[in-house]
This record gives sequence, structure tokens and C-alpha cells, in this order.
Amino acid sequence: SKAPVNVTVTGAAGQIGYALLFRIASGQLLGADTPVKLRLLEIPQAVKAAEGTAMELDDCAFPLLQGIDIFDDPRQAFAGANIALLVGARPRGPGMERGDLLEANGGIFKPQGEAINAGAADDIRVLVVGNPANTNALIAQSHAPDVPAERFTAMTRLDHNRALTQLAKKLDVSINDIKKLTIWGNHSATQYPDLFRAEVNGANAAEAVNDQKWLEDDFIPTVAKRGAAIIDARGASSAASAANAAIDHVYDWVNGTPEGDWTSAAIPSDGSYGVPEGLISSFPVVSRGGRWEIVQGLEIDEFSRGRIDASVQELVEERDTVKKLGLV
Ligand code: NDP
Repeated sequence: SKAPVNVTVTGAAGQIGYALLFRIASGQLLGADTPVKLRLLEIPQAVKAAEGTAMELDDCAFPLLQGIDIFDDPRQAFAGANIALLVGARPRGPGMERGDLLEANGGIFKPQGEAINAGAADDIRVLVVGNPANTNALIAQSHAPDVPAERFTAMTRLDHNRALTQLAKKLDVSINDIKKLTIWGNHSATQYPDLFRAEVNGANAAEAVNDQKWLEDDFIPTVAKRGAAIIDARGASSAASAANAAIDHVYDWVNGTPEGDWTSAAIPSDGSYGVPEGLISSFPVVSRGGRWEIVQGLEIDEFSRGRIDASVQELVEERDTVKKLGLV
């Protein structure tokens, strides 16, 4: 039988953690033949709540779950980790500027990067969910010099999945009819969900929509501001859908993406499409042999160019801010 995979989850007692852990333990993260050991990281005051979640995990008697350990020390939590899901982050408080938010998160993601560098397994793969996810990933990565940079990624899969559904509804087609959709840039309001390279039943999606006004005034803002709309409706931020997207991201990273399609993930740029090298920006990606690859050779129209550049510019500014703070 297969050896268990160590999966470290931070912010384990939070909303997303609660939606995520049961799916990991049931085999949905890595497949139904892969046993897992969970390593949960929380801040000291949330350890008790994480213990409660662990009790519920015990009570599911998941056949694939071979152990749960709970820590408040990142060095211990990341020791031997094969997969790390960095969910816990500092939320933006009232009156907090973006620089304050980045600084507060530096205090979380710097030590976590150091701990990953010190003790994670050689095949460690990191997905950052906690916001601002792209720049948090950059901070962690820059403190893990011995880990290949490409192992640090940030999540735009929820944006991707949201865009799939909005397009499917608009065209009254199934999700399965849509291929090659892309989220470019930052996981923020500037992100660019791109239909110009997407296909619907083999035809160009932007042409099938044929409605630039809908695209600009409806589709793009609906996808980009979906998080706020969920908070408005539910009275709480999206959690199950964020957890679902994290599962999708890691599953595809480990198991590969289907032929003839791609997905979206924020990965370190190699300079493709004019995105400065090293920025962790969302691209059209495929996963082959356990590695993300940026889909090459796409022609970028002028409208898309402007949108991509604006989101990438925001990432450049975030990077400059954390550089000034000495965090990267
Ligand atoms: P959630 O579990 O709801 O969210 C966690 C993080 O995911 C937030 O940064 C949130 O960003 C982000 N996120 C990314 N995408 C989404 C999305 N689509 N919808 C909602 N959130 C998204 O937060 P909770 O407050 O319930 O739980 C956080 C937990 O993390 C707490 O238990 C806290 O103790 C813990 N924590 C742990 C740390 C550690 O392990 N070292 C450090 C800091 C916190 P946004 O704020 O923008 O919604």
C-alpha cells in the first residue's frame, strides 16, 4: 500500500479549514488510493477549536486518514510536509491600509517560508489561499531559498471556477462545454477573466458571447467581486467554494490537467506574456509530470493586454511594498 502523504493546513480552525479538512481526509485532494496524515497549524488561541475539528475528523472514521497532529509552531507543522495549504492569514481590519495588511501578513508568511525551507519534504508543494495570496506566496517563497521557486503557488482557481459558471449561464451551456478559460494576474479586484482565448463547444467564447458590454460591465465585475456578493448574501465569506478550488488546484497539480484544456493558477512568472520574472501571477497553465507549465504562444488582443498589464502592475506595487518592508 502507498505511504501516507503529509498535508499541512494552516488556519485549520477557520471557515475554509472546516470545509477543506474533511475533503482532504476523504481522499478528494490526492485520490482515493492515497492515505494522508494531517498536520494542522493554528495560532495558540485557536488550537482548541482545531482540536474540536480533529475530533470530528476522528468521528468520520475516514479509511485514508492515518493521523492528525495539531501545532502552534510552524517549524513543527511543516516538518516532513509534502503538501502545504496556507489558508490562515490576517484579515484586513477597519482603517488598515494595504501596506499594513502586507506587513501583518509578512509576520505570518515569512516564518512559514523559513519553516518550509527548514523541514518540509523534498517534494513540497505549497498553495497559498490566505489573502493577499499572490504576495503572501512571494513572501513565503523568498524565505525558502532551498526549495525550487516553482513549488510556491497562489490560488486563482476559485476565480476560474466562478468565471466558468458565469459563462455557462450566459450561453446556456454546460461547464463541460467550456475549455481554455484563463484568469490572469492578481487574485484581487483587478484580476482579468479572459474569454478571448476560451472555447465553447470548440468555437471562440468571446465570439459566441458577442457582447462586449456584457463582458466589461457584467462578466468581469461579477467574477472579480463575487466574494463580496457572497458575503452580502450569506452573511459570511465564501468558504466551501474556496476549499473546493484549493482541492481542484492541488489535485490537478499532482495528477495533471486533461488534454486539450488548461486551467488557471498563480505561479512564479518566467517572463511569459510580459509578466516580470519572479512575480507570482495567474496564467493559463497545464500540469504535466507534477509541474505547472505556462501555456505558451497565445496571441493577446489589445483589450486583454490592458487588463493583464493593470493587474500585473498591482502585483508589482505589492512586491515593491513588501520589498521596502524587508519582507522579500
Ligand atoms: P477563512 O477560513 O474564511 O479565510 C482564510 C483566508 O482565506 C483569508 O485570508 C481569506 O481572505 C482567504 N480567502 C481566499 N480566498 C477566499 C475566498 N474566496 N473566500 C473567502 N476567503 C478567502 O477565515 P477565518 O477567519 O474563518 O479563519 C482563519 C483562521 O486562520 C483562523 O482560525 C485563524 O486563527 C487562523 N490563522 C492562522 C494562522 C497560522 O496558522 N499561523 C495565522 C493567521 C490566522 P479574506 O480575508 O480576503 O477573505
